[in-house]
Amino acid sequence: MSFDFSRNLIAAMAKMAPLLLNMQVAQRLSILAYHRVLAAPDSMRPGEPTVAEFDWQMRLLREHFSPLPLVEAVERMQSGTLPDRAVCVTFDDGYADNEQLALPVLLKYHIPATVFVSTGFLNGGRMWNDSVIESLRVHQGNELDLRDYNLGQYNLDSFARRREAAESILQKIKHLDPAVRIDLVNEIERRVRDLPNDLMLTDAQLQTLSHNDIAIGAHTVNHPILASVSDAIARSEILAGKVYLEDLLKKEVEVFAYPNGKPGQDYSPEHRDIVKALGFRAAVSTHWGVSSTSSDMLQLPRFTPWDRGQFKFALRLMANYRLGDDLASNAN
Ligand SMILES: [Zn+2]
Repeated sequence: MSFDFSRNLIAAMAKMAPLLLNMQVAQRLSILAYHRVLAAPDSMRPGEPTVAEFDWQMRLLREHFSPLPLVEAVERMQSGTLPDRAVCVTFDDGYADNEQLALPVLLKYHIPATVFVSTGFLNGGRMWNDSVIESLRVHQGNELDLRDYNLGQYNLDSFARRREAAESILQKIKHLDPAVRIDLVNEIERRVRDLPNDLMLTDAQLQTLSHNDIAIGAHTVNHPILASVSDAIARSEILAGKVYLEDLLKKEVEVFAYPNGKPGQDYSPEHRDIVKALGFRAAVSTHWGVSSTSSDMLQLPRFTPWDRGQFKFALRLMANYRLGDDLASNAN
């Protein structure tokens, strides 16, 4: 599909949107969830957009949607003054490429965004899932035997197989006790050399984002799945992440993202109440959907736009406004 044809279709679709979506488009908010933006396609990370893809996605948002800062969107949702096709852009975890690659695009199109940061990995740290992916990328030889650890045996003779192996291992260890999981990750890391230590933001990069009006949100310190730790640990993880960011940025941190983010599975109503008690104005989960005035502002749904073509991306964004919010009620 040619660029112009694609653009014209999107423009036509945008005009038809109110018709397509009936009255439901009013007072609806889509919140997009990104993690990384890559300099070039990476066969170990096929789900992440390149900076070129992110560029047309943000241009499309600017031209056909109404991008808003998250806190403003929540306020306007509560007061019934959301613009049509309201959308927020968010990033989870705190990757350095958010500052290096995404920020210039966000500034180019004047797109507000929120970056949710797990503070324990700043300044050279690495999340356990990245340790597994990067270890599988550089592992010498075409075989990895983890049968001693009940994690199976893997053929690594192509990047496709290395990616499959990483995904398989991640699924197997994702919900283990964090202490057990880190031992397994250390065992996988021990077999390789030269893992990257610049994947996550530094304090200085985080300050640059903040100075450019990117909102910074809390995302705990160590990214535990809250349901797998005690309420006391969950509370201190949530609070310590908030305090670190506020001390660094000299700004109030008003928004929170639940690690992993599936309601009932990764966090419970008790964690939602902790987030409320700690003074956050809004929090985002990863349950799929679109927010409205009846949504719980402390468990807003999000979705990840995965389409690589502009037409499909735009269509899915529009179709998303017709989704509901499973958690919507009169919760406050
Ligand atoms: Zn996360």
